[in-house]
Amino acid sequence: MSVSQQVFLRDAMRRLNLTRDVFAGRIGVKRRALDTWLLPEGSQEFRAMPEVVMRFVTEIVENEALLRKYSQTAQSGPLRDRIAADGKHQLLSVDQFSRESVEELFRIADQMQPIARRQKVSRVLEGAVLGNLFFEASTRTRVSFGAAFCRLGGSVCDTTGFTFSSMAKGESIYDTSRVMSGYVDAMVIRHPDQGSVAEFARATNIPVVNGGDGPGEHPSQALLDLYTILTEFSRLGKLLDGAHIALVGDLKYGRTVHSLLKLLSLYRGLKFTLVSPRGLEMPDYIIEKASTRGHVIEQTHSLEEGLRGADVIYATRVQKERFSPEELENFSPDFQVNKAIVDACCGPDVIVMHPLPRDSREGAHDLSVDLNHDPRLAIFRQTDNGIPVRMAIFAVLMGVESLVQHSLRDVTWSPPSHIGPDDSIFHGVD
Ligand code: ASP
Repeated sequence: MSVSQQVFLRDAMRRLNLTRDVFAGRIGVKRRALDTWLLPEGSQEFRAMPEVVMRFVTEIVENEALLRKYSQTAQSGPLRDRIAADGKHQLLSVDQFSRESVEELFRIADQMQPIARRQKVSRVLEGAVLGNLFFEASTRTRVSFGAAFCRLGGSVCDTTGFTFSSMAKGESIYDTSRVMSGYVDAMVIRHPDQGSVAEFARATNIPVVNGGDGPGEHPSQALLDLYTILTEFSRLGKLLDGAHIALVGDLKYGRTVHSLLKLLSLYRGLKFTLVSPRGLEMPDYIIEKASTRGHVIEQTHSLEEGLRGADVIYATRVQKERFSPEELENFSPDFQVNKAIVDACCGPDVIVMHPLPRDSREGAHDLSVDLNHDPRLAIFRQTDNGIPVRMAIFAVLMGVESLVQHSLRDVTWSPPSHIGPDDSIFHGVD
């Protein structure tokens, strides 16, 4: 098998759209056995799957792929051509994805996990240079894109803010973009104006990734959020089709929820509750897009009402930098997702997410720190997933995804088994 057993089985379950229980039944094995096959090779409980099971699973997956091929329009060619924006290998919006292409990207992200977990190294992007152009505040997006590029063997040049860039001298987006394209091989751009990253992208033929364009979109965040939801659901034995997702907070200016709602709507029969303070509701054009796909979408100003029975709570920060303090006074601040409300409204297997940063200051009413030791809080598993997903984005846009598997070498140093002191038992293991 060219990929690890874990990657192979996860991929099979995703392609067949089966929970662990149903998949175990489908291939005629005990759930417990399947669980041990799904562990990483280094873990104590890991067991090798018998050869005959692997052949059987391969056959089922191939049959399913054949059926799909005949029942739908056949997809072919490299993934980067199928998700291209105006014929260019750029990632500007989640609108570029179908359910098939997003799941193909996640198969590549799964292959990146041994690198992200510091077990393997790869140099497939050796010699390539990334330009990280961030004209708005950022910590995780900028660093994780940079780290993802470096972990594939490339190097990174950064510029942050307007003050230290030539834009402060009146340079146009076109000129900046064209100049940078002569220096680097790919760019990640964050800018405060909606649509500005698309403008950068029009001025160049090198890969451009939208790292957040004002209140517009944040496609890589939505991709890692969806990857996290699917990974968590796989551990919990749930399917995304039919799930209840509560999006909470500033849904008007929060670009992560704009991208996420559109991306999730590629799945089937979801229920969304959109919980926001008055005046910060999700824009209509995004709701309309998701509702044409037949999902149930309910809007409410009551946190309790919106969270009741949710499978996923996705909390967000009020984007204070996007409107004046006077406007803010009109908003009820009572939107804190904390342990009491999660316990009261949701079951033991809800997952609590947030794109971060959260405002942890007293009275901020953002996601509470009292869930920090609660395994339902998935925020750091979510940030960790930013690396393999962003590596997959680069590998696809640069056309090297098929080289990764054979490029892997063992790391020479030994990283800690748990990277955070509070990591729960399954963090990074399952
Ligand atoms: N980091 C996310 C973003 O850049 C969320 C936030 O800032 O609230 O959109």
